[in-house]
Amino acid sequence: MLTLLQMYCTIEQQKNMKKFEYLVLGISISSTFLISTIFGFAGGAIIGTFWAWFWISFLIQVIAFAVWNSFLIQKSDAIAQLAEIQLLEQLSRFVIQLSCAYCKQPNNVPIQLNAKNTFKCESCNQVSGVFMQFTATTLTTPVESVKLPLGGSESVEFKVGR
Ligand SMILES: [Zn+2]
Repeated sequence: MLTLLQMYCTIEQQKNMKKFEYLVLGISISSTFLISTIFGFAGGAIIGTFWAWFWISFLIQVIAFAVWNSFLIQKSDAIAQLAEIQLLEQLSRFVIQLSCAYCKQPNNVPIQLNAKNTFKCESCNQVSGVFMQFTATTLTTPVESVKLPLGGSESVEFKVGR
């Protein structure tokens, strides 16, 4: 539960983050203009005009930033997807206790249904394989009474209390 103070802090943090973003944006834009100006002077001193060099270097920087940005976005997307896959893998894994095939020492073994499973014994360091077998069973219905034959045609019936 968020207390008022915490909520206030979160809002303050968000404001500070926004300020920080604007600061980074400002630095980024001014450094782009600065580099363009330097290129403008340098290029203009050798060949052509200041503004031609200014705008060419400006455009190159903008394009380079766009490419770099989309690369960063792609990369963070890929990392997020990988993390999701790893999480799913962890969730599909469950732990059962199995005795070592060599020394019968019980081991806690993580099992995945869609993979070949092996485990290394904690006691003897031998690697055992895991053989999985599933059996279908009927669902049992609760017994309501038991009839015991008493010889002849008589029998006694026991009711099962619930
Ligand atoms: Zn063992």
